[in-house]
Amino acid sequence: MQEAATIPYWQRRVTVELPESPIPARVDVLIVGGGYTGLSAARETAAGGASTVVLEAGAIGAGCSGRNGGQVAHSIKPNFAALARRYGRERAFAIYREGHEAMSYLRWLATAGGVDCDWRQQGCFVGAHTRRHFMAMVRHAEQQPAGLEQRITVLSKAEQRQEIASDFYQGGCVYHDDASVDPMRLLLGLLKRAQDSGAVVVDHCPAQSITPNGTGFDVATPRGRIHAAKVLIATNGYTRGELPWHRRRVIPIGSYQIATEPLGTERVKNLIPQGRNIVDSRRVVVYFRPSPDGTRIIFGGRAALAETDPTTCVPRLHDMMTQVLPQLRGVHTEYAWTGWVAYTFDELPHLGCHEGIYYSMGYCGQGVPLAPYFGRRIGQQMMGLAEGRTALDGLPFPSRAYYRGTPWFLAPSVFVYRTLDALGV
Ligand SMILES: Cc1cc2nc3c(=O)[nH]c(=O)nc-3n(C[C@H](O)[C@H](O)[C@H](O)COP(=O)(O)OP(=O)(O)OC[C@H]3O[C@@H](n4cnc5c(N)ncnc54)[C@H](O)[C@@H]3O)c2cc1C
Repeated sequence: MQEAATIPYWQRRVTVELPESPIPARVDVLIVGGGYTGLSAARETAAGGASTVVLEAGAIGAGCSGRNGGQVAHSIKPNFAALARRYGRERAFAIYREGHEAMSYLRWLATAGGVDCDWRQQGCFVGAHTRRHFMAMVRHAEQQPAGLEQRITVLSKAEQRQEIASDFYQGGCVYHDDASVDPMRLLLGLLKRAQDSGAVVVDHCPAQSITPNGTGFDVATPRGRIHAAKVLIATNGYTRGELPWHRRRVIPIGSYQIATEPLGTERVKNLIPQGRNIVDSRRVVVYFRPSPDGTRIIFGGRAALAETDPTTCVPRLHDMMTQVLPQLRGVHTEYAWTGWVAYTFDELPHLGCHEGIYYSMGYCGQGVPLAPYFGRRIGQQMMGLAEGRTALDGLPFPSRAYYRGTPWFLAPSVFVYRTLDALGV
């Protein structure tokens, strides 16, 4: 059988060729990283009148923003009670509101803001892996904090076939406000907004070092040095050794995806009748959805204990997919790809300014809504605008004494989580 192509399904017909722009010697704002965060911030700073350059180490779409699953969910990770214990109820409420604001902003971009990215607010079915998970989901649906309610419908195991042609789950919940996008088209839309505002985006040009100099920073690149009055780090899971402070605060985790061969809209509709995103309640989560044209299944998850390459992950992901949907046995995988998401030690995104350098990162696998939103907010903060303020401002960005940027603890953690999942704990 033919091997899967190791490019993101979203990029199968898209190559972005940016015109080669001269690199200016001085700019007001230099942004490191050309994903959702960097391009959204660039739009704000350029529109505010600051000369802005975005440096992207690879091609546009090399990072997560060109290779994710395109699932859009309300996305603050810690549960509300845990957050309230940590920061008090009022702050927890405000942090949760940011997640809602992020969804609204993406909806606005996609429906009124001119970013044509196949936005569909079709909802998400979250399948319960065990009966206990199901009971916890029911409690969560019934006890949503006032003012933060989402539209949720609980479905018993007997009812779940409305959502998925599988008996794998023990019931689940439909989150009606969740949505999906074509992630690469979202990225191209944000690129256009940044460029239309006057930002210069330079691809294949990494920032190699950032050195304080006078009132700003000297940034070294393979194409010469740039003096920038302000710098933003927007490198998320691709944060490398040249940024040691940030690298010690984000945990890069490989995420793996496959897209099946075309199955036809009827067959996909029989598998996922409402066309929603599907996620399950395991610790080592799997997530899947129909492609925007409704002809394929796009399936993702953690394929291996240690990081691997897209080709190696195909059989494992295929097995995980047919565990839920045995009807897909024998179906060919046409595309396989991976990318690096950024987790944080407190499971919250972080934005702010450290030693004069701005940053926004650590979306814990939920960056489709969060990265455009917090990118926008940090851009506004760089311009000194009050609307840039967020409920996350000023939170400490934690690291650990044992962590220097290589997550040696990941493989044993995934092993433990997988074992607990298998035991149904
Ligand atoms: C397989 C996969 C599936 C996912 N699915 C979902 C999903 O369904 N829903 C969801 O909400 N989130 C999902 N995510 C996460 C989401 O894609 C990210 O959180 C989001 O794209 C982060 O955007 P960003 O702009 O901060 O980072 P990125 O898009 O990763 O951009 C960072 C960029 O920085 C560049 N860079 C690094 N160092 C330098 C340097 N020194 N100089 C210049 N450039 C540099 C990198 O090349 C990279 O392009 C997924 C991620 C992956 C990998």
